[in-house]
Amino acid sequence: MKVLVWNEFIHEKKKPEVAELYPNGMHNCIADFLRADDIEVRTATLDDEECGLTEEVLAETDVLIWWGHAGHNEVPDEIVERIHKYVVGGMGLIALHSAHFSKIFKKVMGTSCTLKWRNDERERIWTIMPNHPIAEGVDESFVIENEEMYGEPFDIAKPDDVIFIGWFKGGEVFRSGCTWTRGNGKVFYFQPGHETNPIFHNENVQKIIRNAVRWACPIKKNIEMGAPWSAPVEE
Ligand code: ZN
Repeated sequence: MKVLVWNEFIHEKKKPEVAELYPNGMHNCIADFLRADDIEVRTATLDDEECGLTEEVLAETDVLIWWGHAGHNEVPDEIVERIHKYVVGGMGLIALHSAHFSKIFKKVMGTSCTLKWRNDERERIWTIMPNHPIAEGVDESFVIENEEMYGEPFDIAKPDDVIFIGWFKGGEVFRSGCTWTRGNGKVFYFQPGHETNPIFHNENVQKIIRNAVRWACPIKKNIEMGAPWSAPVEE
């Protein structure tokens, strides 16, 4: 299984408090805990040529993990089109936290992906589909002491499944873990992951991302999505 962790890698270079949590960037933190699980992982950032998302790289990728926030608009549209082609062709996509506003997530949703937000709230995440593969080994509920509140209404396409629901100290609730199918590709959105909190060091969060990678991994990828004339198969 080949995973590509993409991170815009902006906040870590500008905010010391983020650099302290993620000295090598969030992408390397995520890559490290996936590698410990015997998964082949590469990373790419906005600074790489073609954002590190060339045809060659994407053709070899089973699952793409995305973290973006300040640099959404710096990802060129033609690269977004390219990623989308690979998603419908079978590549898994995992969008984390503020990736709800990334061009690729908005494209796969076809909606505005708007939500409410507020900084520094206690969040309790509830596992509401304990038998879903992404929830394997995850506690019935767990607490993240400091996380950015994301609140409903979250303007997304109707999910195939809602696996996790987040509850925030201020009273809001949020569909924190949802899945979709787009063409041949599986898509998972997961809400935790604000850059100033140590979210990707959290054991339950790591478990969920590991499970999501396995769940989103295609049996067959790079499926051509054409509409060809077809000769009859029966005489
Ligand atoms: Zn955030």
